[in-house]
Amino acid sequence: MRAGAESIVRIACAYVAFAASAVAQDRVHEQIAAAVAEVDAGRIEATVRKLCSFGTRHILSRTDSDTEGAGAARRWLKAAYEEIAATSDGRMTVRFQEAVLPCLRSGMPRQVKVVNVVATLRGASDPGRAYVVGGHYDSRNSDGADGEGAAPGAVDDASGTAVALEAARVLASRRVAATILFVAYDGEEQGLLGSKVHAQSLADEGVDVDGMITCDIVGNTTGMDGETYDGYVRCFSYAPTGNDSFGRSMARAVSRAGRRYVDGFDVKLIYRGDRYGRGGDHRSFFDQGFPAVRLTEPREDFSRQHQNVRPRNGVPYGDLPDYADFGYSAQVARVAVATLFELASAPPPPLVSVARLARDAYDTELVFQLPDGVTRCEFVWRETTEADWTHVMSMAEVGAVAGRGGRMLARMPGVCLDDVVVGVRAISAAGARSRVATPPEPDRFAQRPRSSTRRGK
Ligand SMILES: [Zn+2]
Repeated sequence: MRAGAESIVRIACAYVAFAASAVAQDRVHEQIAAAVAEVDAGRIEATVRKLCSFGTRHILSRTDSDTEGAGAARRWLKAAYEEIAATSDGRMTVRFQEAVLPCLRSGMPRQVKVVNVVATLRGASDPGRAYVVGGHYDSRNSDGADGEGAAPGAVDDASGTAVALEAARVLASRRVAATILFVAYDGEEQGLLGSKVHAQSLADEGVDVDGMITCDIVGNTTGMDGETYDGYVRCFSYAPTGNDSFGRSMARAVSRAGRRYVDGFDVKLIYRGDRYGRGGDHRSFFDQGFPAVRLTEPREDFSRQHQNVRPRNGVPYGDLPDYADFGYSAQVARVAVATLFELASAPPPPLVSVARLARDAYDTELVFQLPDGVTRCEFVWRETTEADWTHVMSMAEVGAVAGRGGRMLARMPGVCLDDVVVGVRAISAAGARSRVATPPEPDRFAQRPRSSTRRGK
């Protein structure tokens, strides 16, 4: 029984020299830092002001004008993406994605047409795996069914739409392994309609969506209390059970990219899908089983969101661009660029099949499979009560060895599985890290509501 463990230790020595040379090759960090440095707040401002200039982008607004309404806005967005695609050496394509969907909102027609703008940057070596970044370009005012009145939607959500466009501009000329989709969603305000169409189509096509980021309300830094909140972005993630869902793993990847590449800016992990009573386009991806997160500013100003443009008690109401902080939106764009660049450059996450506490020591043993052609990985762990990974262990420290059928065996010394969460991420030759894969929790049980709750007492 001990022989297996000893052979792990013995063969592990062979990895020491290999891992040391591999670390020296982590070129990807400079590439990501260079991309992040290209994010331009001025371009984000120009996009937001242009989108606001269309008056309203409500799903029922006019589509026959070149200067007003949703039709003009999406044609402008498509042209802006096409200009970016021209820098991609033919790898980026841009299209409208159209569908007619039922709409359940009161005052709305029973059916509405949604039109997303989708820009696809095809991956160089693993195009069937995709990462998605989006914002919603539709807007609304106090009356959710008003397709004519002004609804500038500067922060909600021209800001997120502009972040996705700026991320596309920075990344279009760079080669990455996986595909990146940049999307301006329609119909978010009417029940996440555009993202439902998009997520469903990706699921139907069998695309391996390994991560989705919706940037929604990422442009206001003045709280209703007059304080400035510009040091972090909130990252919401759904979990059907436990804290180690795909979505939470994606949230930690976003947090890692933010910490590493965006100085003086933090990603605040919030372990719930969204704010109370609210929703966003990441929900459509979660519903398809894809890892998805929502980025939103720290403190929303409800005197602007979903409000008619008007003065009220001396306070300017309405979602106007003059009250947006474009420098802040640029920070969010940097987080998005770093996350997308790293994950799309990395291999897909490993597959963990077995996690067990060793029988002869308080060590964790993992059995997992690295993606084809991948030889590097690293191991992470944290206390069950920690939100994010606190410890990283290299292959040399862990003694990862190849087993039969492409399986890898690893032994994390001194890591007592029963008390902690462990995971493993794959690393490309250039050093890009995948999302972390974790073994399932041992106590994933469905819970029965208390009988008094069921009776409504
Ligand atoms: Zn929104």
